[in-house]
Amino acid sequence: MLVEKKLKAKVSRRQFLKGLVAVTATAAATGSSSTAKAFLWEEYFQKHYKNLSPEDKQKVFARIENETKKKYGVDVKVSDPPPLKGVKFAYGLNLTKCNGNRLCVAACQKENNLDRSFGYIKVLEIDKGTMNLEKGNRYYEGTVPKEGKFYLPIQCNQCEQPPCTRACPIEATWKEPDGIVVVDYDWCIGCRYCQAACPYEARHFNFHTPEIPAEEINPNQSYLSNRIRKRGVIEKCTFCLHRTRNGKFPACLEACPTGARKFGNILDPNSDIYYIMKHKNVFVLKEDLNTIPQFFYYFD
Ligand code: SF4
Ligand code: SF4
Repeated sequence: MLVEKKLKAKVSRRQFLKGLVAVTATAAATGSSSTAKAFLWEEYFQKHYKNLSPEDKQKVFARIENETKKKYGVDVKVSDPPPLKGVKFAYGLNLTKCNGNRLCVAACQKENNLDRSFGYIKVLEIDKGTMNLEKGNRYYEGTVPKEGKFYLPIQCNQCEQPPCTRACPIEATWKEPDGIVVVDYDWCIGCRYCQAACPYEARHFNFHTPEIPAEEINPNQSYLSNRIRKRGVIEKCTFCLHRTRNGKFPACLEACPTGARKFGNILDPNSDIYYIMKHKNVFVLKEDLNTIPQFFYYFD
């Protein structure tokens, strides 16, 4: 109820800002088809995700599927798997095992339909015996692992107290009951306040329309995660919620050949992550900021 009230209070501001974008885009689209304009106006008048009825959702998902077919010639299916009761996701990463091969980065790009010029995961190469993230090199080249180095992958920590969501003026980004921080990409106005607020550089702004090889598009998509995003919005890792809410592991974990990545329901005593929390000496990044990350690192 509180969310609804807040959303209503913010809606006029959001519609004003979004309206400017829509009008400009329509004006620039001289010569474009009436179908494209219809898509644009349908999207403009679309409600916030939390206020969409099941019927609204079906229409929105169908619009996205049609847009993708039109642009890429690919049939995709958009859904929105809900958070599961009694589930709170967390991630564990064994830094002793990570060898810096970056297969997780590539798998994430494919799974989440990312523009190939960036990744939700960055892997830092750091001097052994130090933990200075600022001096970590994310552009390392050559054979890995290198002598005297260790490798530290960073992605969204799905923080328990996320400064990013608090910074959003229109509640386009929020934390779900299973701990995953999501963005309504159709509600986002691209102001980038959330990006500035994130201390982990875990959010990416689309300065241009993402370019994805049509033959590599993942057709299994969800509204709040890997459906194809657009220019002018912020995007981020969602722990592959379209997979993990359906009982699978995130794509980055499946791609990792060293077993460095562990993921699961931290409330389940039989899960890997529960075991790690109980038996390993875990730490989080920038603990002093009190963001309470749900991404835990450890050494064997
Ligand atoms: S890592 Fe950044 S984007 Fe992810 S929840 Fe925390 S503050 Fe938000
Ligand atoms: S860029 Fe971030 S802060 Fe701005 S509207 Fe989008 S989600 Fe909210």
